[in-house]
Amino acid sequence: MSPEEPKQEAQESGAWGGGEAAPKPDAEPLREIITPSNKEVIVIAEQVEGQIQPVTLELLGAGRDLADKLGGQLSCVLLGHQLEQAAQTLIQYGAEIVYLADSPELKVYRTLPYKRVITDLLKTFDPPPHILLLGSTTTGRDLAPRIAAFFKTGLTADCTELDIGPYEHTNKADPDKLGLYPGCLYAIRPSFGESLKARILGPWNNPQMATTRPGVMVPLKPDPERQGEIRHIPVNLLPEDYRLEVLEIVREVQSGVSIADADVVVAGGYGLGGPEGFNLLKDLAACFENSAVGASRKVVDAGWIPYSNQVGQTGKTVRPKIYIACGISGAIQHRVGMNKSGLIIAINKDPDAPIFQVAHHGIVGDVFQVVPELIRQLKSAQSVAGASSSEKSLV
Ligand SMILES: Cc1cc2nc3c(=O)[nH]c(=O)nc-3n(C[C@H](O)[C@H](O)[C@H](O)COP(=O)(O)OP(=O)(O)OC[C@H]3O[C@@H](n4cnc5c(N)ncnc54)[C@H](O)[C@@H]3O)c2cc1C
Repeated sequence: MSPEEPKQEAQESGAWGGGEAAPKPDAEPLREIITPSNKEVIVIAEQVEGQIQPVTLELLGAGRDLADKLGGQLSCVLLGHQLEQAAQTLIQYGAEIVYLADSPELKVYRTLPYKRVITDLLKTFDPPPHILLLGSTTTGRDLAPRIAAFFKTGLTADCTELDIGPYEHTNKADPDKLGLYPGCLYAIRPSFGESLKARILGPWNNPQMATTRPGVMVPLKPDPERQGEIRHIPVNLLPEDYRLEVLEIVREVQSGVSIADADVVVAGGYGLGGPEGFNLLKDLAACFENSAVGASRKVVDAGWIPYSNQVGQTGKTVRPKIYIACGISGAIQHRVGMNKSGLIIAINKDPDAPIFQVAHHGIVGDVFQVVPELIRQLKSAQSVAGASSSEKSLV
């Protein structure tokens, strides 16, 4: 990306900050300001019962790219108990160093102990790391603002892209800050109903922080040969860190395939007219292997289907091979959760429905006519395929 590109987009989006137009080409060159940093990109890992969560592997993929652009190193902080194997997994997925805090006190996530260990570690870095990344998960959303507040640094939540680039601060209201800041984290996320893609920058302090939602970034291929270092870090909790005690953990039992893991998601919206409309979608989903039924928030709010099925900004981000949207208008808050699916098929009786803007194939029609026909054709194609394969096996 050329340095000119962000300027132009930022002028359009207003994301440049400064409240002033970017400098004219003939303006005096700005002095370069390099904020102290060790160029390290650090991912705060998430694990549940020793299992590294997918969002962490995705962040390592994004972090690798950022570290390469900075010419720095990619590290990971892992907290929990008996996690040597999990630390190796992080190395396979790109971490050069894993800072491992291993203690029974950290087995289950609790805000204050985790914040204590992470901030104790980061305080020892002089200069500080350049970038700190967390998942936009329940844990990440709890932890990230506390770390950001501790270091008095900026934090951009729910990013959909991350990049590195320069920032020119030309606002004369901040004479001390005027200058060109190279190597800034571009934390990019949709804003104003995704009419704009905002690049949000926090060049004044390091670490520059961002969170991304599960399913948005792409992990590297694991490489068992990749070498890395595991550094054990101290766990020194204080009495005030024990304000919360975990008495019991009750996990939701997921029946069937999760929408986040499915290859095919058949999602329904308010156009289904009621909860019984989802029976039709279940029949369509059953035509595919590893499939699941998703939903818009409006139907979840109406109680037609559980929250765990919700796709979108306040639900899950999904990236299946096929996404079939049935009676979903395609509000931006829905689209951000599914627009990176491999193949998007939309069925809606309104030809102007926004879902058609992201669909690869659009069917304008009534779901109650189109979906039964789809099921009929899929079943007949499958029986033909089944017959020909059994014929072949007889030969
Ligand atoms: C802060 C915030 C966060 C949000 N987060 C999310 C989120 O995570 N996920 C999400 O989905 N939404 C989210 N929303 C809500 C979002 O703005 C929309 O209101 C919602 O997605 C609309 O759901 P829908 O498309 O099912 O319903 P509607 O907008 O009512 O659309 C129904 C569609 O069905 C079509 N239709 C009707 N009958 C038929 C038929 N028989 N056959 C075919 N088509 C038919 C209509 O043409 C229409 O396009 C959020 C909103 C806010 C403000």
